[in-house]
Amino acid sequence: MDVTVPPIDPRYSVTGSSYPLGAKQRELIGIAESLGPRFAQRAERYDREASFPFENYADLKDAGLLGLCVPQDFGGQGADLRTYSLVSATLGKYCGATALTFNMHACSTLWPGILADALDMTKEQRAEHERHRAIHFRRVVDEGAIYAQPFSEGSAAAAGKAPFGTLAAKVEGGWLINGKKIFASLSGAAHYYGVLCTEDKAERSMRDTLYMAVPGNAPGLTVTGDWDPLGMRGTVSRTLLFKDVFVPDEAQMMPRGVYYQAASRWPHMFTTLSPTYMGIAIAAYEFTVRYLRGEVEGMPPVKRRMYPTKQIAVAEMFVKLEQTRALFLRMLDDARLDPPKDARLRAYATQYTIMENANDICRLAIRTCGGQSMLKNLPLERLYRDSRCGALMLPWTAELCLDRIGREALYEPGEADD
Ligand SMILES: Cc1cc2nc3c(=O)[nH]c(=O)nc-3n(C[C@H](O)[C@H](O)[C@H](O)COP(=O)(O)OP(=O)(O)OC[C@H]3O[C@@H](n4cnc5c(N)ncnc54)[C@H](O)[C@@H]3O)c2cc1C
Repeated sequence: MDVTVPPIDPRYSVTGSSYPLGAKQRELIGIAESLGPRFAQRAERYDREASFPFENYADLKDAGLLGLCVPQDFGGQGADLRTYSLVSATLGKYCGATALTFNMHACSTLWPGILADALDMTKEQRAEHERHRAIHFRRVVDEGAIYAQPFSEGSAAAAGKAPFGTLAAKVEGGWLINGKKIFASLSGAAHYYGVLCTEDKAERSMRDTLYMAVPGNAPGLTVTGDWDPLGMRGTVSRTLLFKDVFVPDEAQMMPRGVYYQAASRWPHMFTTLSPTYMGIAIAAYEFTVRYLRGEVEGMPPVKRRMYPTKQIAVAEMFVKLEQTRALFLRMLDDARLDPPKDARLRAYATQYTIMENANDICRLAIRTCGGQSMLKNLPLERLYRDSRCGALMLPWTAELCLDRIGREALYEPGEADD
């Protein structure tokens, strides 16, 4: 794809000016910026129809971004969590639903990729993982396969508090999967679903979690249910039913026990939804500045910036945005295997702040810009609705972030009350 990177206005870029970026990071963010205006143009239709952004995925494929987090040895771009997050937030400025679903796809390569490299595995597990992930990565890089990440089941499992109810039973040459996943973004669009399930055996625990790639056309897999939500409508997050779905041994995206290790030792793996909402917050701020300056395309060039109350509201939005961005960028510095406790708590605080502030910045944007700004021909009301969904995303909902911070701040490991 011939990518022409538009000049990036640092006021509305994800990092702002003077943030240290490598050449590869600048290139990848530039690609995302170059796709952005097209994504923004299509966003209204996907939202209205609650339809999947197929055209955007064709563009992501052509631009080489489907392989963003596939390691370079396997033909991908080799993005780490920081680079992924900056690219994802850039996409989030233009189309929240595309950025959110791109999270599911990209993490299906980030986790078995760079993240798994840092985890402990036996020699046999490592060899098995190399064989299996080569298959997954080749599909993404060579065939443009799209992966989804259906974890949620409507129980405590996706919150990280109980084993998954979807079960995988070992059979000759593979596994038989039975169960149900709710809110499966990319449902009906993904070529593979990266399903978290529990090995079907006596006395199951969260340590028995398996991570399986199930083909979208596997016999026994059904997509069901309506999809007509408040926001993030282009994610098309319907229900998946698994009835004796067979997958071969190489469907394992991580060896037995390794997902549990990742979830325990690499907490920042669960922060990857937040860049989408960082992008939405920037978009709402940018819209507000342009609107009050009378610069929004398709609107009469009426200026509203001279009213002191509007100036105060913009200042308040700016303060919130910079507070949010500062935590976001700091969190990306913290991300690593076995981070210290203060970094883990900061990750919860960051996720909470991004999800809550994105919605608050959108709320302020509508109040400040006024009635005409929330009409459907402008993006603000969609940003507002999309931003409302961030705090609901498991395993780190806004409530669960507070829950974890409160508990972990007051108790050290092993401590209990009489
Ligand atoms: C637009 C959108 C896209 C989504 N895409 C995906 C996707 O691709 N993949 C995916 O796996 N999920 C996805 N989700 C689902 C999301 O991550 C949550 O799982 C879902 O919103 C939970 O809905 P619920 O009504 O079951 O919520 P809740 O009832 O809030 O949560 C479910 C369970 O989690 C536990 N829990 C929740 N809050 C607490 C708390 N404060 N303390 C203790 N336990 C708690 C409880 O056991 C509760 O029953 C998506 C959601 C949305 C809105």
